[in-house]
Amino acid sequence: MNNDSNISKVKLYGRPNSPEAYEIRDFLKRSVVEFDWIELTCDEDCYRELGFASVEELRLPIVELVDGSQMFAPTVREVAQQLGWVTQPKFKEYDLSIYGAGPAGLSAAVYAASEGLRTILIERYAVGGQAGSSSLIENYLGFPEGVSGADLAEKARQQAVKFGIELLILREGVKAEFRNNRIYVDMANDSKMVARANICATGVEYRRLNLPNEDRFLNRGVFYGAGASEAQLCSNKHIFVIGGGNSAGQAVMYFSQYAEKVTMLVRNNNLAASGDRYWWFASWIVYRSFTVFYWLAGRCLRTFSPSSQQSGRGRGFTTRCS
Ligand SMILES: Cc1cc2nc3c(=O)[nH]c(=O)nc-3n(C[C@H](O)[C@H](O)[C@H](O)COP(=O)(O)OP(=O)(O)OC[C@H]3O[C@@H](n4cnc5c(N)ncnc54)[C@H](O)[C@@H]3O)c2cc1C
Repeated sequence: MNNDSNISKVKLYGRPNSPEAYEIRDFLKRSVVEFDWIELTCDEDCYRELGFASVEELRLPIVELVDGSQMFAPTVREVAQQLGWVTQPKFKEYDLSIYGAGPAGLSAAVYAASEGLRTILIERYAVGGQAGSSSLIENYLGFPEGVSGADLAEKARQQAVKFGIELLILREGVKAEFRNNRIYVDMANDSKMVARANICATGVEYRRLNLPNEDRFLNRGVFYGAGASEAQLCSNKHIFVIGGGNSAGQAVMYFSQYAEKVTMLVRNNNLAASGDRYWWFASWIVYRSFTVFYWLAGRCLRTFSPSSQQSGRGRGFTTRCS
């Protein structure tokens, strides 16, 4: 056991490519909890870091909280519980219940609570929604330098809490019914939520690619929307980003700072067709090696690479695929 009592950050120990460790990393990153990720690849790592002789005998991942307490192979819910974030509703009935704590739900919560409505915000995972995985949002009002999605969400959460909302995380609404001018919602944990009005701000689900063996590699090589928590772990890796929209562009920019190489696969024949363009100009000026492959009906049309690696700026070059 590590007896160091001067722990100032949460520590997360686990094996590389562990989906369980990824889930906790992603949750902590979205929740703006500072943590160190410590990879255990062999018994020596295990002994040096934790004082246990064998990595095989440990239930990984391990979360070590700032008070030094350790959780072995915890779920995200257990970590959140230990951090004191899993709470019960205070009231039997609310003026407004909002499902989903992405930007839409958070905005609604701020405005409702600031008008004095008794408001509850219910989120099935972490505050921030899709925006929580964004490395740098540049087009939101009031952030001329841009802001990471997790920071934006945390600021919005603080603002909403300041106005008196209640926030329940890791809770999910599954079914709703209107009667007596009330909305009765069945929650996934078999409890009920009652409110006079309701907003569903539940966003979108990622459409899966349905690749062969996808489930086997999910969160251990194949990720949907990963970025903020993973990019720094990708030095010496070749990353493929699938998609040509704004989020994919942002991911390419971010991963290019850390990864050995980033390749973007785009199904249309140009980037502008599928999303915003602002990231595109910034990316070839600032970042390292990346290549975009344009695909149409399974055929590579052309590739694009920035020519800027020596000079730091340039027009890039395009190659037609044969
Ligand atoms: C990597 C990335 C980068 C992006 N960058 C930008 C950008 O730079 N600029 C920009 O304008 N947009 C950007 N976007 C898009 C932006 O994040 C979304 O448009 C925005 O998050 C949508 O907000 P929302 O609140 O409607 O939904 P979401 O963000 O999808 O949030 C919905 C929330 O509802 C929760 N939920 C779902 N069902 C339930 C349920 N039954 N009960 C309780 N909770 C539930 C989900 O867990 C989720 O947290 C980006 C998206 C991604 C993925």
